[in-house]
Amino acid sequence: MRYIDLRSDTVTQPTEEMRKAMYKAELGDDVYGDDPTVNRLEELAAKMVGKEAALFIPSGTMGNQIAIMTHTKLGDEIIVGANSHIVKNEVGAAARLSGVSYSIVDNPDNRIYKEDVLKRIRGEDIHYPSTGLLCIENALADGTVVSLEEMEDLYQVAQKSHIPVHLDGARLFNAATYLKVGAKEIAQYTDSVTFCISKGLCSPVGSLLCGSKEFIKKARKMRKLLGGGMRQAGVLAASGIISLEKMVDRLEEDHENAKYLANRLNEIEGFFVDMDKVQINMVFCQIKIKDFNSHEFVQVLLEKGIKVNDDEDIIRFVTNNNVNRKDIDYAVDCIKKYVNKN
Ligand SMILES: *Cc1c(COP(=O)(O)O)cnc(C)c1O
Repeated sequence: MRYIDLRSDTVTQPTEEMRKAMYKAELGDDVYGDDPTVNRLEELAAKMVGKEAALFIPSGTMGNQIAIMTHTKLGDEIIVGANSHIVKNEVGAAARLSGVSYSIVDNPDNRIYKEDVLKRIRGEDIHYPSTGLLCIENALADGTVVSLEEMEDLYQVAQKSHIPVHLDGARLFNAATYLKVGAKEIAQYTDSVTFCISKGLCSPVGSLLCGSKEFIKKARKMRKLLGGGMRQAGVLAASGIISLEKMVDRLEEDHENAKYLANRLNEIEGFFVDMDKVQINMVFCQIKIKDFNSHEFVQVLLEKGIKVNDDEDIIRFVTNNNVNRKDIDYAVDCIKKYVNKN
């Protein structure tokens, strides 16, 4: 059975072109540094985000954790958003692996502002840990995008205090698409950046961590420490090259589909999507129907071949390369039928 999978963009299957490129990829042993396809992907990634070097890693989580390990020393504190992936979805790894504590910024709009950072940068008092790193996200996990002005403000404040900035840019290219800028214009306000090729860019596996040559040299050792040194990884990198060369421009289509879906959901009584927050490929729909059982709703959709994620009264839909307008219309029809019956 073919599912219309709107749970995430991580569900995207590699395209035929990717599969062919993987089959034909020229390979070496990347731990020796001689896998030509991995080297090409790393060079391309670095160029696209305007950094000196890049490192191919198995996941975005590992990229963030390597960045934290590389930037900080044991006992440091990192400034990070309450709803960020690093705080909510990485198993508390920064505490365990890097021995850092978290200074958590909890704003209703999930953003970190320069005032938040200024307040949290630690002084010399012997009771305090040292502030080791500012971690930001763009796009944010709530599907909104941080403007270049906000990025610049944060970077300036951090730089003044000699605190490095790491950007978790799992969906960096979605953010760049929304802002109509190149990814490097966002990344210029960071010292390091991770982005995923395994999400909307359709590769099966992988992320890139980018930064200065010196930073990436240290990060490479940290990747080894974590067991992330990969051998004939060119099989995966071959797909990553296609992600970067051919799949970036089509993200716009996912964004348009998300807006289309959001508008259609707003046709349904009791379903509310804030259109101002539909900026990338994510739609968060709030359900205001008395006794609405979101768990049952998700099950009923599943029986109709539609997969979505729920979080109490919020249903999340993520458009991606494997979902087209017809699929969206079908999903909306199924939702309407369900709502009318209840
Ligand atoms: C997906 C994602 C990651 C990394 O996820 P992996 O599954 O480890 O690749 C990191 N940050 C954000 C904001 C994400 O959405």
